[in-house]
Amino acid sequence: MLWILFGAAGMGLGVWSMHFVGMLAFSLSMSVTYDLVKVLLSVVVVIAASFAALFVVGRRRLTVPHLLGGGVLLATGISAMHYIGMASMQIDITYQPVVFVLSILIALVASLVAFWLSFYFRDGNERIIVWKKLGSSLIMGAAVAGMHYTGMYAARFQMREPSAVSHGIVLNHTFLPYFIAGGTLLTLGLSILGIFISNRFSRKESKILQNEKWYRSLFDNNQDGIISIDMNTRIIGFNSSATRITGLSHEWFLHETIASLLPHIVEEERERTRELFLKSLEGVTQNYNTAIIHQDGRRVELSVVNVPVELDGQVVGTYIIAKDVTEEAAAKERIQHLAFHDELTGMPNRRMFYQALNGRIDNRAEGLSVAVIDIDRFKLINDSLGHTYGDMFLQEVSRRMERCIHGDEIMLARMGGDEFTLLVDGRYGKDEVARFAERIIEDVAVPYRLKENDFYVTASIGIAMYPQDGEDAVQLLKNADTAMYEVKKNGKNGYQFYTGELNEQLQEKIELEADLRQAIVRNQFVLDYQPQIRADDGQMIGVEALVRWHHPSKGILSPGLFIPIAEETGIIYELGTWVLREACRQMKKWHDAGGPLITVSVNLSSQQFHQPNLSSYVKGILEETGLAPHYLELEITESMMMDPVVSTGILNELTDYGIRISLDDFGTGYSSLSYLKLLPIHKLKIDRSFIRDITENRNDQAIVSTIISMAQHLNMDVIAEGIETKDQLDILMDNDCSKIQGYYYSRPLPAAEVEEAFFVPMRNDSGK
Ligand code: C2E
Ligand code: CA
Ligand code: CA
Repeated sequence: MLWILFGAAGMGLGVWSMHFVGMLAFSLSMSVTYDLVKVLLSVVVVIAASFAALFVVGRRRLTVPHLLGGGVLLATGISAMHYIGMASMQIDITYQPVVFVLSILIALVASLVAFWLSFYFRDGNERIIVWKKLGSSLIMGAAVAGMHYTGMYAARFQMREPSAVSHGIVLNHTFLPYFIAGGTLLTLGLSILGIFISNRFSRKESKILQNEKWYRSLFDNNQDGIISIDMNTRIIGFNSSATRITGLSHEWFLHETIASLLPHIVEEERERTRELFLKSLEGVTQNYNTAIIHQDGRRVELSVVNVPVELDGQVVGTYIIAKDVTEEAAAKERIQHLAFHDELTGMPNRRMFYQALNGRIDNRAEGLSVAVIDIDRFKLINDSLGHTYGDMFLQEVSRRMERCIHGDEIMLARMGGDEFTLLVDGRYGKDEVARFAERIIEDVAVPYRLKENDFYVTASIGIAMYPQDGEDAVQLLKNADTAMYEVKKNGKNGYQFYTGELNEQLQEKIELEADLRQAIVRNQFVLDYQPQIRADDGQMIGVEALVRWHHPSKGILSPGLFIPIAEETGIIYELGTWVLREACRQMKKWHDAGGPLITVSVNLSSQQFHQPNLSSYVKGILEETGLAPHYLELEITESMMMDPVVSTGILNELTDYGIRISLDDFGTGYSSLSYLKLLPIHKLKIDRSFIRDITENRNDQAIVSTIISMAQHLNMDVIAEGIETKDQLDILMDNDCSKIQGYYYSRPLPAAEVEEAFFVPMRNDSGK
């Protein structure tokens, strides 16, 4: 209202002074006197009209009726002012009606346009607004002036009788215009100054107000719970997040002290939280994690900052800012879990195992045991069934082993692949650790049902004790490993404690491995050939090629010693290729020299059997050496037939080409016999273990005779291995098995000796 009043005064005075200064500039031939009352009335009228007009248009949104109302009011004010001002002159005036109306119209139109413009340009860029407002002011000024001069043009003046003019005042034409103009401008100037000063004040005030609103909003809308506390631990402020995070009501916060919050803190953190909070009251910012039990019972993890509030250097209270980090904490825990557990089995992983082991050693554990558990024949399952089944198998093995142990004192971890470790607390002695190992071995050995077949695997366990078998984690594991390899070497499926001698053996193995890599290029391998004899007539019907290693310092080494190392290190591919090529070359040479047209048997390792393109690789060697395919017999073992689908494919390719297949070590492989009739196998080789005691052991006799009749039934050849005595031979002959391989007839011999002993009569150009 006050502002409108100011505006109206400025506007009215402006219009009025325009009129009067204009009047004074207007010279009439007579001297004019003015009626003071009317002069004053004209000022009051125009100010009042301006007030009313500004009041009508001065609102947020301008509607057409308001604009029209304001325009009409202002035009009325201006016109009224003009004509009352004219009437104050004590002379007779008549008006031309048309021009009179025109002057009023000018005032009306200009007022409307000026109002509309000034309203229309109220918002927007400030610099432009100034110009636009100036524009609308000019229109307004022009309108007032236009109205004035049009009104003057409409007037016709006539002198009155001198008596009638005697009581009016005569205006001084020299100074009065300047006086009026100056006064008006002063009024306007003061108004503008007032506006300016007031603006400054209100802007500052609104800025402070705005700042406070910003801070409030930061407080109220913060995601973190914020509670402000005074020095008497009274709660003097809190935001909605504080109620949300704690589940405590608005009323609770209004009426309780911070001490009542303490019982809601989880018990294990309560005391620490209290201490840290009190420290913040001493003026030290505190940062800590704690947890609270929400009203709905769940645990909320909090990251808390206590910020002391200082006014003029004195602590007057503290802010508790609490962030809900439950989800982050859970995620962190998940990551932590992933980092320390094996993904496949959920067991502790290598990292966790080492951490636990090192931790115990660092804490000067009295004693402890470390066991390394390796699953025998896992590679075979993985190779033949694929990784998906390999993984399923590992999960099952892990479950079984976990069932064998319990309690915090024992940790079972998966180190990777099929290797597991056990960390046993010192309270368990050697005997108890041995019992754990036995139990694991027993449980692992129960057959596994995979892809509708039973699989038999075993576990080999090596154990090292702290501190006697190693002072640190690395040494302990290494020695447990050594013991485990000893188990493997001795036929797997068992456990063994580490001893110093094992280390020497391991050392030897490491040396052998290094030498083995060089052995092929250095030509240190040779093949011996063990004849296979038809007992009825003593005829040689084939030979088995058996590899020997002429080691430069260790002499002749048997394959049982180095084949496992070759398989472990992958050297077996290269070695196997050499054996196959050499055996075929030798047999072809014998054939060419007129020797008996017999087959050569070559042993294949599981890895070789599963190598891609086995058949084309064998074909290549046959073509290279020129040996006809039906003179080559490949010896494979039952364990390679784990996945009948895969092995049938491989075997069919080989036999289609004419190569013969014999099943070596038959009877030791556990696996089901049902697949035998599905596979293209030409020959069964009865394992030596059944022959060894066959003369005394009736069980072995029964097994052997069963194998023989089964082979006959399946239309397969059968040969017995490891015949050393005449008695053994007789039993086999009685059971209708006359094909024999064994020391009884011959040990494996170098090629030249085979020729000498068995190639009679041979042509002179034969042999080497
Ligand atoms: P295997 O395939 O079962 O070979 C028969 C083994 O029994 C040979 O041992 C042979 O010397 C031995 N033997 C034969 N008759 C008798 C007997 O009457 N009494 C006794 N006590 N033993 C007899 P060797 O040559 O030490 O070979 C051991 C194993 O090494 C072989 O068992 C075979 O699995 C593997 N092997 C040999 N050469 C190769 C090869 O070139 N490649 C692959 N992958 N493995 C091979
Ligand atoms: Ca063999
Ligand atoms: Ca054999």
